[in-house]
Amino acid sequence: MANLAPLLGGAITVSVGGALTYAVRAPSCAWLAPSVHRGVITRPAIALTFDDGPSESTAELLEILARHKAPATFFQCGTSVRRLPQVAREVAAAGHEIGNHSDTHPKLHFKSRAFIYGELASAQETIQAVTGLRPRYFRAPYGVRWFGLREAQQRLGLMGVMWTTIARDWKLAAPGIVARLLEGAGNGAILCLHDGRAAQPHPDVRGMLEAVRELLPKLMERGFHFEKVTDILCPTKN
Ligand SMILES: [Zn+2]
Repeated sequence: MANLAPLLGGAITVSVGGALTYAVRAPSCAWLAPSVHRGVITRPAIALTFDDGPSESTAELLEILARHKAPATFFQCGTSVRRLPQVAREVAAAGHEIGNHSDTHPKLHFKSRAFIYGELASAQETIQAVTGLRPRYFRAPYGVRWFGLREAQQRLGLMGVMWTTIARDWKLAAPGIVARLLEGAGNGAILCLHDGRAAQPHPDVRGMLEAVRELLPKLMERGFHFEKVTDILCPTKN
């Protein structure tokens, strides 16, 4: 029996580590802070969400969305909103929803509670001052949650929003993005794309733009329509 102890100890360490990784990263896990990863499944609705903007390419994305009358939700970083305030205002003026994606796009794990609150609060203040909209939703940079996020969200009145399917559009070319998102499409799906790259200026998001151009008509042919995050979470809409 004695020689089993190290094995059991090892198994427990692995399982605690595995549980923490799950809590920090799994889109469907809400242990560290309340979050959703899918809307109601009673309507053929899809929420298109775009992270890391605003960027120099956001205007082109707004044109594509307008052409298809598709509302979307933009999870913006405070630092990018200060860099391109006019673009952030155009997103709001077009009727899209704006969410909080932190101020400077850090990974939140191993950060202090004060740091985490500061990131969310600065972005919240910037977005409201520039666009007039006060975000109700928060998407964690890299999907990484940590201790203290729950309290920060609570103080600021934010609900966490993860995703049903993520486009991997920072890596894949347009055909790969389209295939991935078509496979992930379903009632209430929250799709995650990027109109920026971690708050960097002049990001290359051409693959995403080409993919969205192709994807929207294909989803509509399949009978889906598009809703903002607020609407896709609401069971009594329509
Ligand atoms: Zn991001």
